[in-house]
Amino acid sequence: MKLPEKFIAETDAFFAAHPEMPSEGFYESFDKVPLHGVRLSRTKTVPSGHEDLLRHIDPAFEKADPVLWCDGGYYLSEDTDDTRKTGRNPLYHAGVFYPQEPSAMLPAQVLSAKPGEIVLDMCAAPGGKACRLGEDLSGEGLLVANEINYERSKALLRNIERSGITNSVILNENPDNIAKRLPGFFDKILIDAPCSGEGMFRRDRSACASYEKYGPSSIVPVQKSILEAADICLRAGGEIVYSTCTFCEEEDELMISSFMKAHPSYRIILHPEIKGITHNPDGTMRIWPHLNRGDGHFCAHLVKDGENTERKPLPGFVRSKKPLKASERRGFELAREFLSEILTDEGFEKLTRIPFTNHAGGVFLIDFDEDLFRGLKVCKTGLYIGDSRMTSSGKSVFDPSNSIALALSKDIIKPERFLPLGLDDPRLERYLKGETIQVTPEDNVTSKGSVVVGAGAAPLGLGKIEGTQVKNMYPKAWRLI
Ligand code: SAM
Repeated sequence: MKLPEKFIAETDAFFAAHPEMPSEGFYESFDKVPLHGVRLSRTKTVPSGHEDLLRHIDPAFEKADPVLWCDGGYYLSEDTDDTRKTGRNPLYHAGVFYPQEPSAMLPAQVLSAKPGEIVLDMCAAPGGKACRLGEDLSGEGLLVANEINYERSKALLRNIERSGITNSVILNENPDNIAKRLPGFFDKILIDAPCSGEGMFRRDRSACASYEKYGPSSIVPVQKSILEAADICLRAGGEIVYSTCTFCEEEDELMISSFMKAHPSYRIILHPEIKGITHNPDGTMRIWPHLNRGDGHFCAHLVKDGENTERKPLPGFVRSKKPLKASERRGFELAREFLSEILTDEGFEKLTRIPFTNHAGGVFLIDFDEDLFRGLKVCKTGLYIGDSRMTSSGKSVFDPSNSIALALSKDIIKPERFLPLGLDDPRLERYLKGETIQVTPEDNVTSKGSVVVGAGAAPLGLGKIEGTQVKNMYPKAWRLI
């Protein structure tokens, strides 16, 4: 392929200045077929192990080919056109897997979020890395996933919902505003920075045109300011992972060294245990397409020195005891009624341990007071249960949100309220298309009321049964066409 001249000049200069870095085969790598991968969710039900699941995703599957730097990450065969790998696969809709370029799986693995931590993904859309961070939290702690671009934040929201993450807040903000509102608040921050995108050239030809128009010089100040904002947001002893998908040294190693010079309290965390990547002498990491199995990527893991003191109590961190309005109380009651209809006693008790909250008229479950985010543009807070409304005859009704189905596991749903459709059952595709489907006595489900429909054992969406008919409640915007 024809590469931008500016890029070739910059790269030649890089290899000349780093004779220890093998350059042979670098330019040729842009003519090779890009690698494809999937990350399998570790919180969703897997039919019978990863091999079986990969067979459902990749028609040419022969043997599991794991991505060495990501738990649950696998390479797919080169047949990229097949629809089973992406949006037409019911398991994708159920959030069981996320198609992701293998190199893009590195940063979240490096940050390694732990249950209970408060984690910020500063540049999160469309959300592959945020979903992984949320999975690692296992429902404990908080994921704040931010995206500055409103249109892109919609894709982020959809992906977070599909992955079933319960404890997340989605923001549409400038990093400086987050820094002003939440100084010293986060344990860990991921900055998957906007960059000149050189590592994307072989996958996305439009990346070359964008590079020629903007290039590294326009993005470097943006990256610097995002790092500065992250420094303000991070508590003492906290960690930052900074990553890009470019080879440009100014955006990568030099960005990190200049940040550390200005902030001597930071050290680089080494990762000798991560195999299959290129470890730089300064402790940062790269993925080179001619040396490693992935597109170009850079990743640095920093820790901020200092006492791991207790987080300052910010307003809203401790839940305020605001009196509820009657309509809010009614909304909570209806949400509880709906949850008790579909969940086992144990499941109901487990889920409703998380406090209810109201946001923009809807009922959500979230363990933080939304006052914490006051003044910031919040797209979503916690797990969306649904909306209560008054009918024209004055009756209050509850419209459950499909995102609740995606956050459940089969074992907490009442057996008669779960309709698992086999992956080769034609009703599954019809459900995803929004059609009404029929149940038979063999399905062993209730004859009236709400049901959770599954793609195999993985909850996918909601329906309402009346006799043998299942009214389709899969959201219009999510349906297959
Ligand atoms: N982490 C994402 C994922 O895994 O799907 C990909 C992030 S992408 C490399 C970089 C993101 O940074 C884009 O979504 C872009 O809209 C956002 N961005 C652009 N300018 C920004 C800025 N000034 N501050 C914060 N984010 C910005």
